[in-house]
Amino acid sequence: MNHPTRRDFLKTGALSTLLLGSGIAMAGGCNAIRRRGTTKNIIFLVSDGMSAGTLQMADTLLRRRDGRPSNWIRLLEEGTVKRSLMDMASADRIVTDSAAAAASWGCGHRVNNGALNITPDGTHRTPILPVFRDAGKATGLVTTTEITHATPAGFAANVEHRSQAEDIAVQYLEREVDFLLGGGNNHYHPEQREDGRDLYEEHRQAGYFVARTKNELMNGNAAEGRVLGVFTNGHLPYTLDHINTPELLENVPTLAEMTDLAIRNLSNNPNGFILQVEGGRVDHAAHSNDVGGLLYDQIAFDDAVGVAMAFAGSRDDTLVIITTDHGNANPGFSSAPDEDFDSIQNHRHTTNWIRAGLNSESSIPEIQQRIEYATGYEIPREQAEIYRLAARGEYRATYSRMNSASAVMGQILANYCHVNWVGGSHTGDYVELASFGPGSEAIEGFVINTQLFEVMTVAAGVVEHA
Ligand SMILES: [Zn+2]
Repeated sequence: MNHPTRRDFLKTGALSTLLLGSGIAMAGGCNAIRRRGTTKNIIFLVSDGMSAGTLQMADTLLRRRDGRPSNWIRLLEEGTVKRSLMDMASADRIVTDSAAAAASWGCGHRVNNGALNITPDGTHRTPILPVFRDAGKATGLVTTTEITHATPAGFAANVEHRSQAEDIAVQYLEREVDFLLGGGNNHYHPEQREDGRDLYEEHRQAGYFVARTKNELMNGNAAEGRVLGVFTNGHLPYTLDHINTPELLENVPTLAEMTDLAIRNLSNNPNGFILQVEGGRVDHAAHSNDVGGLLYDQIAFDDAVGVAMAFAGSRDDTLVIITTDHGNANPGFSSAPDEDFDSIQNHRHTTNWIRAGLNSESSIPEIQQRIEYATGYEIPREQAEIYRLAARGEYRATYSRMNSASAVMGQILANYCHVNWVGGSHTGDYVELASFGPGSEAIEGFVINTQLFEVMTVAAGVVEHA
């Protein structure tokens, strides 16, 4: 059988977009049209860089440790959500990055990797948060990365390149995003911004409540009005390091806590809201082949899914989309005794934490001790020697992308937990997509990333603002 070509895919995508558009005028045809305007709220949850194995391993870890499935798999098990696969390719690559991926949802067009809502012909497309704002709805972005990072920015900003974090922070303010929580002090603080602007003060002037710690957030006026919460320089900590570091636990909220507060705040708007929630460090952990970082951050994301569904599940006016923007490093648990997988439950810190405490001069016993402290694994001398070689940039794997210290650390741990990786980069897999609520009936079993923009704007009845 002939496989459809890429061009056919795009044609089909364009055709269904056309049908959706004309269906509005013809008042009939597809379910999305009958539902037009009945969706008051949208919650869009993204586990960044989540391969299929990540979803499975987080679920298996929870079942074996806590005797319960993950929220995501439970929703599938109970038939509460609809399951689809999604093609996330960008305008210029089979394998997208987070910027092009978020922009495909955020403006309904494929852009080149790295770009945010500017198509290859230079056209600036209005992102979905300003569209919803113009329709009188509240808007919010919550993430475990810098708040200016590619995925949240794809819902609200227009820049040539995702690295323009300072511009993105200013655009959030200018575009009146109502609720912002994440990391990224380095892009808000006057001493760290290149232009010296004090964006905290500018937000206060614009009526925002500004929080810099979890206490300030939880004890302040964050349940109503505009809110900016920035808790760290750079990204928020990995969950596994977060929960085992008292100071971080005290100062940084979890993704579930931020999601809960965002929903309580934004749902005050009688016209409804759109909220993007990102578990952003699942991707970072996958890039660095960090099994503890990966699975505990996926579980933290899953907790946020539970919070979103606790709000939406009993209502008929909220569309929930749960997905990822691309696979990453495609980890999986290989055939081995189940107890080897269970050993991940004993990890105290991520491999990012392990590596941060070592350098190319670290001794073999130092490497062994730090790995044992963080994971419980007593590694032999020869493995520590390979790690030291990699830390010095002298290790040569057959697949050259596995030369790095992070890849070697991941493989050392794989000898014990048997979770291994195919590389350290994004992958082109069609991704998991779960949807719930009004509008989800318009999402087919296999969709192109750009179709979700149409689904959301049609369902919420905001097409005239797009
Ligand atoms: Zn990435």
